[in-house]
Formats: sequence, structure tokens, C-alpha cells
Amino acid sequence: MTAVREERTNLLGMPRRALESFFVELGEKPFRAAQVLKWIHQFGATDFAPMTNISKALRGRLQEVAEIRAPEIVTRQHSRDGTRKWLLRVDGDNSVEMVFIPEKGRGTLCVSSQVGCALDCSFCSTARQGFNRNLSAAEIIGQLWLANRELGRDPGGERIISNVVLMGMGEPLLNFDAVVAAMDLMMDDLAYGLSKRRVTISTAGVVPALLRLREVSDASLAVSLHAPDDALRDRLVPINRKYPIAELLRACRAYVSGETKRGVTFEYVMLHGVNDSEEQARRLARLLNGIPSKVNLIPFNPFPGSRYACSPPEVIERFASVLQERGIVTIVRRTRGEDIDAACGQLVGRVRDRTRRNVIPVREAC
Ligand code: SAH
Repeated sequence: MTAVREERTNLLGMPRRALESFFVELGEKPFRAAQVLKWIHQFGATDFAPMTNISKALRGRLQEVAEIRAPEIVTRQHSRDGTRKWLLRVDGDNSVEMVFIPEKGRGTLCVSSQVGCALDCSFCSTARQGFNRNLSAAEIIGQLWLANRELGRDPGGERIISNVVLMGMGEPLLNFDAVVAAMDLMMDDLAYGLSKRRVTISTAGVVPALLRLREVSDASLAVSLHAPDDALRDRLVPINRKYPIAELLRACRAYVSGETKRGVTFEYVMLHGVNDSEEQARRLARLLNGIPSKVNLIPFNPFPGSRYACSPPEVIERFASVLQERGIVTIVRRTRGEDIDAACGQLVGRVRDRTRRNVIPVREAC
């Protein structure tokens, strides 16, 4: 008879508190957590052998009961503009994508929070794939851990990855605990030490979770608004039927109330003839009145079978001017990594859909 090996605990996704409890349960002092956090996240350790400030006996014990396990890289793609994309296998059926976007003075890693997405926004290719499951905290922070290994870390003190955005596949607020744990690690000085301004969670508007998030995290907030009225937003972002714009904006106001939080970034995808008129810009400005905010206009990125066209540049400019004239800081997001399908809303990975079996496959990833 073969002995069933007990599953080892993956330490990669454990924030400081959880790791302290893990060591206490092992009969060790909680400060071991600080040592191990640094080894895993700052030095990129893949196992316990190199952790020389820990006794050999304890390292041996850790080898038996614990592991440091990240997703596995399946493919790597490079865009002409320097953007990079990785396909990561998270289990036998499923893979997700992450993207690195280098810019002058900063480097942004865009990470996924779920395998697929259940929200079904009509202009997003991830939505077409349906949904399989939430990623674990280890699979989310594992993306940053892997990207650091791939890109090299802090040469001469300059960080290569200076910002993380939870804007990859999935709706992060529908995977609350794992996302909060991963963001804790991103902001923990013993792990990645990113400031709260450099960790951004983007949501389509899961209002109750947004209200809870305020209690447990300082991360910056981006909200995918995309429409200035409920009738249109119901069509574009169906979760609006459950949490309409007024409720969403109330939660946004609450999120930024108090001194420690900054404004909200509202994302607005530019869909020609759908949400890009001057009147719609004026309505949007009225909606945002009184909320510390800025607007990020995202040129629509098409994908096979998408029903929309991107607004022409002059229409986007005009829309931006209307907002700017009304005192709203407005930025047109530059499209990056188009040639490798790494732009907003183009991440697809590989999803064994468990929700809508008849969904039309967008395309084979990579
Ligand atoms: N579910 C979260 C995280 C996704 S973030 C959210 O909705 O915020 C990705 C951003 O890209 C969102 O603002 C999303 O609405 C936007 N997006 C999705 N598909 C897009 C497309 N085809 N072109 C441009 N932006 C898109």
C-alpha cells in the first residue's frame, strides 16, 4: 500500500499574520515569519535550503510540511513596444495571463484575480470565456513573484515593477479574501513594500465588497464606469442591474472619505456611437461632481467577434475636453501591447468554462 502524502502548505500566498500563525502552530516563534517573508518575496527563494538564518533542523521540517509554489509559465510574448505577456498554468485545465507594461519612470504589472470572469461585460474578451474559479492568494501574488524573477529585481535600487494593477482577468472584488491577502503582501515592507498609491484594484462595481474593502485595505481604487446612465450601463456592465450607478458612486464616495485615501480613477472605455457623445461626457461630468476623481479614457481594444468599434481619436479628444473644461483630470490611456493581445480587455488565458458551455471560443490563447 502506498502512503498518501499529506499536502504541503503553500507559504507563497500567506501574508505576515497568517505566516506568524503558521509558525506558532509549528511550535516556533512568530518572528520566523519575517525571515521567511523576506526570503520568499525579496530574494525569490523557491525552497527552504538557502534560508541560512534559520536552523538546519527547522529548514528540514519546513521542507516536509511546506512549499513555495507559484503558477507555471507556459509562454512568454514580447511586444514591439516593450510590453510583455505571460501565460501561466494554474492547474491542469486552466491558465491565466499577466502583462508587464514598461513606461518612462515606472513599470506596471497587470495581474489576474480569477480564471475567466462571471460578469459578462459586453465589450470584454475575458467575459466571452466564461468563468472557472477564483485564483488563490498564492496564485495572485505568485504573478508578482514570477514577474520579479523574469524581469530581475531592483537593479541599483530602481524597481523594475513599481506598480501593480489588479486589472487582468477576473473581477477582484468577487475574490475578496485572496485579493486582500495578495495586496497585503504587495504593500508589506517585508515583502514587496509598494505604497498604497502603487497598488490599484479595479472593479466593475461590486458595491457590498467595495464597502468592506474600505475597512481592510488602503489600496487605490479604479472603477469601470463606462456609461453615464443606468440604461446604457445595464447593457455594457450587467452587474449594474444589481448595483446601479447611484449606489456605486455612494460606495466610491465612502471609499475616498477620510484622509488616508486618495481619489477614485474612473475607467471609461470609448465605444464609437455608444457612449462617446459630448452629451454623454457632460452627463458623466455631472455624475462625478463632488467625488475626488480622475477619468481614464480607454480606447476600445477589439477582439475577434467583438460588436463594437473604437471611437476615432478626435471623438476621444472632444470627450476628454468636455470633462477637462469641467475640472476633471482626464487621461487617455495609451494602448500598449496590441500586437500580442495584451491590451485592456484582451486577456484570455485558457479557461475551462463552468458557467456557459455554449459560449463561442474567442480564439486559442497564444
Ligand atoms: N473586472 C475588473 C478588472 C478588469 S480591469 C473591472 O471591471 O474593473 C480591465 C479594464 O479594461 C476594465 O476597465 C475593463 O472594463 C476594461 N476593458 C475590458 N474590455 C476592454 C476592451 N475590449 N477594450 C478596452 N478596455 C476594456
